Order: sequence, then C-alpha cells, then structure tokens
Amino acid sequence: MDKNLLTDLRSSLDGPLQFDTLSRAIYATDASVYRKVPLAVAFPKDQNDIIKLILFAQKHQVGLVPRTAGTSLAGQCVGDGIVVDVSKHMTKILHLDVDGKTVTVQPGVIRDELNEYLKAHGLFFGPNTSTSNRCMIGGMVGNNSSGTTSIQYGVTRDKVIALKTILSDGSQASFESITSGEYRKKMDMPNLEGTIYMGVYSELQSKEVQQNIKEEFPKESIHRRNTGYAVDELLHSHLFGGPEEEINICKLLSGSEGTLAFTTEITLQLDEVPPPISAMVVTHYKTLEDCLKDVVPVMKHNLHLCEMMDKVILDCTKNNREQLTNRYFVEGDPAALLMLELKDDSEEALEGNLKKLLKTIEKSGLSYSNPILRGNNINKAIALRKAGLGLLGNMVGDRKAVACIEDTAVSLPDLKAFIGDFTKIMKDYGQDAVYYAHAGAGELHLRPILNLKRAEDVSLFRSITTDVAKLTKKYGGSFSGEHGDGIVRAEFIPMMIGEQNYELLKRIKSYFDPDHIFNPGKIVDAYPMDKSLRYEIEREEPEISTIFDFSDSEGILKASEKCNGSGDCRKTHKASGGMCPSYQATKNEKDTTRGRANALREVLTNSLEQNRFDSDELVEVFDLCLSCKACASECPSNVDVATLKSEFLYQYQETNGYKFRNKLFAYNTRLNALGSKMPIVTNTIYNSGPLSNVIKKISGIAPKRRLPKVSSINLDKYLQNINKQVNNKNRNIVLYIDEFTKYLDTDLGKDAIDLLCGLGYEVSLYYAESGRTFISKGFLKQAKRLAEKNIATLLNYARQGTPIVGIE
Ligand SMILES: Cc1cc2nc3c(=O)[nH]c(=O)nc-3n(C[C@H](O)[C@H](O)[C@H](O)COP(=O)(O)OP(=O)(O)OC[C@H]3O[C@@H](n4cnc5c(N)ncnc54)[C@H](O)[C@@H]3O)c2cc1C
Ligand code: SF4
Repeated sequence: MDKNLLTDLRSSLDGPLQFDTLSRAIYATDASVYRKVPLAVAFPKDQNDIIKLILFAQKHQVGLVPRTAGTSLAGQCVGDGIVVDVSKHMTKILHLDVDGKTVTVQPGVIRDELNEYLKAHGLFFGPNTSTSNRCMIGGMVGNNSSGTTSIQYGVTRDKVIALKTILSDGSQASFESITSGEYRKKMDMPNLEGTIYMGVYSELQSKEVQQNIKEEFPKESIHRRNTGYAVDELLHSHLFGGPEEEINICKLLSGSEGTLAFTTEITLQLDEVPPPISAMVVTHYKTLEDCLKDVVPVMKHNLHLCEMMDKVILDCTKNNREQLTNRYFVEGDPAALLMLELKDDSEEALEGNLKKLLKTIEKSGLSYSNPILRGNNINKAIALRKAGLGLLGNMVGDRKAVACIEDTAVSLPDLKAFIGDFTKIMKDYGQDAVYYAHAGAGELHLRPILNLKRAEDVSLFRSITTDVAKLTKKYGGSFSGEHGDGIVRAEFIPMMIGEQNYELLKRIKSYFDPDHIFNPGKIVDAYPMDKSLRYEIEREEPEISTIFDFSDSEGILKASEKCNGSGDCRKTHKASGGMCPSYQATKNEKDTTRGRANALREVLTNSLEQNRFDSDELVEVFDLCLSCKACASECPSNVDVATLKSEFLYQYQETNGYKFRNKLFAYNTRLNALGSKMPIVTNTIYNSGPLSNVIKKISGIAPKRRLPKVSSINLDKYLQNINKQVNNKNRNIVLYIDEFTKYLDTDLGKDAIDLLCGLGYEVSLYYAESGRTFISKGFLKQAKRLAEKNIATLLNYARQGTPIVGIE
C-alpha cells in the first residue's frame, strides 16, 4: 500500500499508527504458530478512531485485526491488514450496577484487574483463563474464553449481556437481549443493523435449517463449544421456536473472533464471589486411564475445579524456577493427577462435602495418594496448573508441543473413549502427546510434539489435526472448546458442522461484513492451516557466533525462539511478580519480554547484514530493559532478555563503536572507587542541584533520578569489630563483596556480616568487581576477564569446601 495513504490516516487519528518495520514485526505473531507481517499497527484512543480505521479499511479494502493482549493460541490476531490494538487506551471500567450485578467495560480491561475492582462489592466475573492476569475482556469475548471455573460459572458467552459495536460501514450498533417483537421491528431498520437482523432471521427461520444445525453442531451437553458462529445458541429463542423468551445477538458475537463487528463496550453479568472456605484434593494416578476413569464419579460432587496434569507437563514444571516451589504437593512420579476443589460457606459444610468426595475416591480405589491442600497452598497448585501451557514452550530445540488440537471438548461420558482413540491416533503417528487441563469439562489440552521448521512435520501437523477433527466429529464434540478456531481450526469447520451449515455461516458473515474487512481468514474463508507459519520451512539455520554460551538453548536464535507468545510479560504491577518493569511503566508491547524476544528473532532471522546484530531498531527495543532478570525466572519459557540484550549490545557495539554514555555506566565502578575516597565531597556534588544536574545531563540520566550515595564504610574494620564481640566461630565462610556492596550499599554488607557471624561463621571477605556493569552495557570481553579471574580465586575456596555467599 502507498505509504502516503497510511501517513494521511495517521494524521487523522488521535491515537498512534505505526508502520515501521519493527512495529510490524512485533505484531506479526500472537501465541500461535503463525506469522503474518501486518500493514500497520493502530492504537485507537477511542471509538472515533475505530470508526476512522473502519472507513479507511472499507475504502482501501484492507483487513482490520482487532487485538487486546494477543494471547490467542490459534492465530486469531495474525493477519496482513492493520492490527488494531485496543489494549493501550481503551481500558476503562465504565459502569458498575451492584444491585443488578452487571459491569460495563471497555475491551482493554484485564480480567483479573476487573475482579480486583469488583472484590469490594462481593462480585466477580467468572470465566478464568490461565492468562487471566493479562488477557482482556475484549479478547475473552472475541474467543468466548472459558478456563478452570467453567464447571461452576460457565463461559464468557453466558456472561455477555450487551455489546456496543462499530459495524463494517462505520455505523454504531448496540446488541442486547430483546423480545421477538422488538427483533422484528429491528429488521425494518433501513441500515446495516437492520440488514443484520433481517439476514439472521431469514437464515434461521426454516425448520429444515434448524434441524440441520441441531444434528450437525457439537452436542448440546458440551458447554464449551467454540466451533464457528454460535447460531445454535440463537435457536433457543422463541423467535426460532426455542424455550427462551428473548434473543440476544451477543451470543453470536461472542466467539466470533473479531470477524463480525468491532466491540467498544461490553456489559457483563457478574456472580457473587465464590464461597470463602475451600479444600483441594489432589488425586495421584499411576496411569492416565485410571485418572480419566475417575473424572465422571468425582464430577458428581459440586466441584469448583476439576483440572488434570499429566507427567509430561509435570516434568516441565521441574525446570522452571518459579514453579519448582509450586509443585511441593506432588508425591512420587504420577502419570497424571487431578486437582479437585470444593468450596463452601462454612467449615462444617465443607468438611461434609469433603468426606463425601474422599469416599468416592476411596471407592474407586484408582489413585495412590490423595493429599488435601488448604489456604494459600491451593493457590500455589492452581498457579502450577495455570503455568502449564506456557511451560510447554520450554522444550529446548525445534521440537515443540504444538497448539492445533489442544482444546477439543467432548461430552463427559465420552471422554475416556475419546482419549483412548486419540492415544491410538497419536501412537500411530509415533507421538507422545501431552494431556492436561479441564478434565471436568470434557476438555483436555492435547498437543503433539512437532518441529514445524521441517516439511515432514508440517505435513504431520495437517494430518494429525485432520484425524483428530474427524475423531471429534465422531463423538459429536467441539473441535475447539475454548481457544477458538483462528487459523489452525477454521479450515475444519465445514467438516465439523457440515457443508450446508458452513455455507450458512458464510452468509451470516456477509450480512455483518460484506467486504470481509474484519479479521479476514478466520472462521470463514479461512487461511490454510499449514501456511504463514512462524518459521520458514526447511530454512537454512543461520550460524551466529556469540560470546555468551547459549548452548543450553542450542544458540541465541533458538533462545529467542523459546518465546511462544503466551504474554505472561504483559501482566501489570497489580499482578504478583516483577516481570517486566519496563512494560509496566509504558504499556507498550515493544517493551515486553515477548516484544523483545520477537524483535530479536525477526532481526537475527532476516538480517542481510554481515553482522546480524547490526540493527538500530534493536537498540531501541532493548533500550528500556533494566537487566533486572525478572523474566529469567518468571517467564514460563525462561526467556532471559537481560542476557540476550547484553549479547546484542556487545555484538552491535563491536561494529558500531562503544558510546560515551555506555562507557560511563560500564566503568562506573572506577568512578565510585574514586568517589569513595572522598565521600563527603562526592555526595555533596551528587546532591547539589546544579552540579548534579550537569552530571545527569552528560550521562543521560533522567533529571528526577537521584544519584547514588557513595559510602566510605570499611567492611574489613566492621568485621574486625564484630569478631571481637562474637567468639563461638566453628565454620569458615567466604562473603563475596562486589562493587555495589563495597562502594554503595555497604549496609547490606554489614547486615550480611552480622548475620553470618551471629550464626557462628568465621567470615572472610572476598572483594572483587563482578562485571555486572560491563554485562549490562555489553562490554562482554571485560566482563569475561573479570569472571575468569574471580572463578580462579573462588575455586580455591570451593575446593577446600568453604561455602561462598554472594548478596544482592
Ligand atoms: C498459556 C496460555 C494459556 C491459555 N489458557 C486459556 C484458558 O485456560 N482458557 C481459555 O479460554 N483460553 C486460554 N488461552 C487463550 C487466550 O488466552 C484467551 O482466548 C484470552 O481470553 C484471549 O484474550 P486476549 O486479550 O489475549 O485476546 P486477543 O488474543 O488479543 O484476541 C482474541 C480475539 O478477540 C478479538 N478481539 C479482541 N478485541 C476485540 C474487539 N474490541 N472487538 C472485536 N474483537 C476483538 C481478536 O480479534 C481475537 O480474535 C490461553 C492462552 C495461552 C497463551
Ligand atoms: S530483564 Fe529486561 S525484559 Fe526481563 S523482566 Fe527485566 S526489564 Fe523486562
């Protein structure tokens, strides 16, 4: 497209429109296996911007891909039109009706943050995805999201009572529950909204069409159904001969993946917060079959959660620092386990129900251990289960657990037989599949392990998906229970609901969006599921040498490819954990761990430069990374941006030279050493307004930041003093004092000395520069020299068996 057209569009919008290579690359992927570089990315300020974008898309026949957190697993947010990211500006909670238990929000409100706000009113929004700390209500409606709580609280579609939208001609339309009479009146409206009401009515009024939908759509008993547009739900209304008095087009819009209309406001039905007292039984099994056999009997109890984890996924949690502490309750090496949570208003009631559940478990006799968790221990277990999908991205190398058949849902009594057939299919393909998640809802997250860089595995990707689609159809199941059709499953909709019904969906789409500007290639007229993959098939792997050792990830490119897009780094400061402070401050996707990993992957893969790291765009991408390393422990795929950044800076500067500012920070220790000789003078200069401002200006430090206070405390002397006071020393220990403890945070050193001496250690201080300032600014040769020197010295202590303690 002519750049001038985009420039004109940009100047007409209140929110930003970006079409530089970097922004487009960062928005080319979501949490799926797909990649399509969009034309541009828009960040609308309000609905007027959205209307302008829609009119532009109409005029120039380009697609619009609505997006919130971009955690879709099936490729819903990948497209080559303009990605419209409403997560930055459309984030307001607009209205709460406590008595009516409803809330109206903009699409960019985060699910957990909404519930935090509602808590004070004793209310909550039920559907609870594993991504609930960053996924947004607009995306949950788009995908009809579900999650762990659906067995008690239902799915998003059940909760959407009204939607304000912008239609494909730029007009505004609100949808809510209406009577048949009101519906008929709306059919007469002389505008697109009227055409939609008329179109839907004309398609669904025929008994023959209704019968065909009932026969071909997934079984009604399956609550999680995300196959195509939910026309089956509309048949429940009087208008179409069903039992419900009213009809609500929101049922159709929920799960329509942004292909029918652009949502600007959502009104949700809320529930009262769940009962406060809970207990969780975790049943452990030696075989998967035993585990599945137990699902039907335990589900007869009033469970709030019935989730499963198998050995493959449990093993993944062993390699993640954060999840290691959450798996404390796992006993032995189970083939699978079930997490069964009960909730009640009183201890007595809970005890009664717990007893009954334990009796059922005992009667079946299939589990070998059934620990009962209480209080915060339950939250830890849920966190472990929630981390599951993301952790699968942790597999080293190119073989990954691929999302394609990962959320098939069948009726509960069919689950065991379905999994039996499924396992046979996977065995025939020589696949060890992963089984886990919402067992109580008949939905397990099944994933084959494939290398989508290889043509052979891409063809397996298609054939496994096809075979499982056929199997799901055999059981009258839903090919997607909650993640949506996106690109990966849309192709199979005709098989799942029959050609006639598929043609019907195509006509429904054309009433809403005759020119296919809304999220083209999804649900109807789908993009092929084995094209536009994230990686070029059979590509020649670029050889990239690095100074850091990335061999545990099979090289730096694969270290960046570990990011599977799960978006954990988009959680805000209101969620627990520290990843990622720069995103928390800016709310720009570019400043997430995911954005950085994606940008590095794009540049390293596609660069034509001799030095693949020679990219000014990457300088911008890594600029705000604080090297705090929160991502190294919190990212479920263990993407360690601090190390990637450091390597990048080294390689980039080797070609482009080392800037004065970077030198100033890298060699900062020398300045502090000098300053500590005259601390009073140094601190006076650092704190004096004008002089300190000059230093900040020269070194590029923000004017509001305070310069650090240099200390003159001599830790050797301090240790001697303490030694005089404490006599009972029986064990040797080395306390490593780095440059920060020596010159700046001396109090930390004093505290550590107090503690170790108090514990009866004979403390020796080992002073040495750590090289952290060098690592942070990419001066890796200098850092390496220091590391080698430190290792050589510390090795002597280690060989003598003396513990070495570092502090931070
Ligand atoms: C690790 C992991 C675990 C997951 N676990 C679960 C789970 O337990 N349960 C579950 O149901 N899902 C799960 N998902 C899928 C995903 O997180 C959910 O579908 C989530 O609700 C998507 O929210 P989002 O804000 O990321 O939406 P996005 O991915 O940004 O968008 C989702 C869809 O909504 C559309 N959309 C967004 N905003 C609008 C708008 N304003 N108007 C119209 N259309 C719009 C988009 O075009 C897209 O089609 C998981 C994903 C990952 C990566
Ligand atoms: S190291 Fe960088 S990318 Fe990782 S969490 Fe910290 S600031 Fe974010």
